[in-house]
Amino acid sequence: MNWDTFAHWGKHISDWGANYHKTLRERPVRSQVQPGDISALIDAIPPEAPVDMATVMADFERIVMPGMTHWQHPRFFAYFPANAAPESILADFLTSTMAAQCMLWQTSPAATEMETRMIDWLRAAIGLPTEFSGVIQDSASGATLAAVLTMREKAVNWAGNSQGLSALPKMRIYCSSEVHSSIDRAVWIAGIGGDNIVRIPVTGPLRGMCPDTLRHTIQTDLDAGLLPIGVIACTGATGMGACDDLTQILPIAQEFNLYSHVDAAWAGAAMICPEFRTLWNGVDQADSVVFNPHKWLGAQFDCSAHFLKNPDDLVKTLAIQPEYLKTHGKDGLINYSEWSVPLGRRFRALKLWFLIRSYGLEGLRNRLRNHVAWSEDLAKRLATVDGVEITSQPILSLFTFRFHPKNGTNIDSFNQMLVDAINDDGRIYITQTLLNGQKVIRFQAGQFDCTQDDINMAFDVITQIAQRLES
Ligand SMILES: *Cc1c(COP(=O)(O)O)cnc(C)c1O
Repeated sequence: MNWDTFAHWGKHISDWGANYHKTLRERPVRSQVQPGDISALIDAIPPEAPVDMATVMADFERIVMPGMTHWQHPRFFAYFPANAAPESILADFLTSTMAAQCMLWQTSPAATEMETRMIDWLRAAIGLPTEFSGVIQDSASGATLAAVLTMREKAVNWAGNSQGLSALPKMRIYCSSEVHSSIDRAVWIAGIGGDNIVRIPVTGPLRGMCPDTLRHTIQTDLDAGLLPIGVIACTGATGMGACDDLTQILPIAQEFNLYSHVDAAWAGAAMICPEFRTLWNGVDQADSVVFNPHKWLGAQFDCSAHFLKNPDDLVKTLAIQPEYLKTHGKDGLINYSEWSVPLGRRFRALKLWFLIRSYGLEGLRNRLRNHVAWSEDLAKRLATVDGVEITSQPILSLFTFRFHPKNGTNIDSFNQMLVDAINDDGRIYITQTLLNGQKVIRFQAGQFDCTQDDINMAFDVITQIAQRLES
């Protein structure tokens, strides 16, 4: 392809994208294909001869589109949002076009300096104190892995990287029973062993870990000769939005000199609104905090903001400087690849710069506030429906509920059937989770273009289909 043809297809694809977004409400949210449907349409062997772009694009429409679940659909109420505001899509197009590797200052000075500024902007936006600096990681999973590695190395005075872990006592990491599976995987990959994750039971309406049990458990482990290394707290856990009481949990970590990491992957975006910050009161005492601008805030995936009280601990854990990565004659520069596990890095700060400038914080706050208010309204409306139990009240824009069917069907099976029937219907998309071992239905509002009418349709779809299944 020459660059004139590129310009032609670039325009074509941006037209396609605008039309796609404008007509999303006409498509089923969750893809309606069966496993294997799409692979059956893709040639089993690669072509020997070139295929022209018009054919590739036509095949994209024919083969790919039916197999897409539409995360940018305004009635996507499943999981968490993965918003891609148009401005951030454009910025990411620029990033893809330049395709720079932003691992060292000198391999992309603008990306490095923009990254520092954007982390400063985000830190100010969510109200973290200026003692935090940070880095943009690929994902919350990547940030949590970096934090767990730092925890491990700090606890053994950076001997683990060189000597391995086999001569060391068993390490222990503490978290609540609500944390995301990315914590498990970080602990596995860090060589600490999943059996050494200590899950503290949760209490209260916010389902935070019980502080007394945490303190007691750490002490018991110490007495038994184990090596406690860190505490991972969460603000807005995936199931139903559980929040640890950081005013209680983080001081306990400090009391035992343990590194602390706060996973606020989803809920962190809401902290741009001062009224929601009570959910993470005390966060300023954390060593490490992660939130994903690629979820609710609107920055195209991937973009995860990782804030650090003392980045030296992280850099000491992850930096390695073979000769070919040295920048001679320029000391004191930030080379962000030393702050994360992968060496190569995309220019992720650009989409934040486009996004935040285009909306202003006030524009972003308005969207999030609407989502929270609409979600609260929906929970109130559903609570008035016969047979509906709100199983967890809204935390930000996330709540859970379940139906008690009148026809005698097992409650768990009925609710799973309801979720499946709703998603087969296609007008909205929701998912289920377990709460105290019971199947409940999750609802979260957060897609960027979602309106109150979309939420009203969710009410209609949920109640109509439940009625149909009951009769
Ligand atoms: C989404 C989420 C994660 C994982 O985020 P990735 O960026 O996909 O790794 C971790 N923790 C919580 C609470 C989340 O909501």
